[in-house]
Amino acid sequence: MTTERTLSIIKPDGVKKNVIGKIIDTFESNHLTVIAAKLVQLTQNEAEGFYAVHKARPFFGELVQFMVSGPVLLMVLEGPDAIAKNRELMGATNPANAAEGTIRKRFSASIGENTVHGSDAPETAKTEIAWFFAENELFTR
Ligand code: ADP
Ligand code: MG
Repeated sequence: MTTERTLSIIKPDGVKKNVIGKIIDTFESNHLTVIAAKLVQLTQNEAEGFYAVHKARPFFGELVQFMVSGPVLLMVLEGPDAIAKNRELMGATNPANAAEGTIRKRFSASIGENTVHGSDAPETAKTEIAWFFAENELFTR
């Protein structure tokens, strides 16, 4: 087991549905600790840069528009195997395929509006955290 950090985002649909607390409770109940957090409305540039890996996908424009449509909660989670654990708690990208009890099964309306983002590997976690947080904004405990 490795202590890891991962970037979590509660997307605009999750913030609008007023389920920030329920989602954070899910993390904290599963050994993940919030070591950084900010509620912000992303700019077009921030959202495009963050999702640059998906630039060629047909849903890229829709994804960016959705991500700037309202405030999001940016967080860094830390804990044992945090990257995989967060992905497990999130559930499949398409909520229709997400396992019972996962965040996306509980709260998500569609594959586009799927409530949460989570880094998928150590390298992406590192770059995604650095995209939104300075080192002195992370409070390891
Ligand atoms: P995940 O967020 O599970 O890592 P991906 O990295 O594949 O999923 O996709 C990034 C985000 O792009 C998804 O969370 C979702 O919001 C959006 N997305 C993915 N596939 C589609 C699709 N087919 N149609 C619309 N939006 C999509
Ligand atoms: Mg992804």
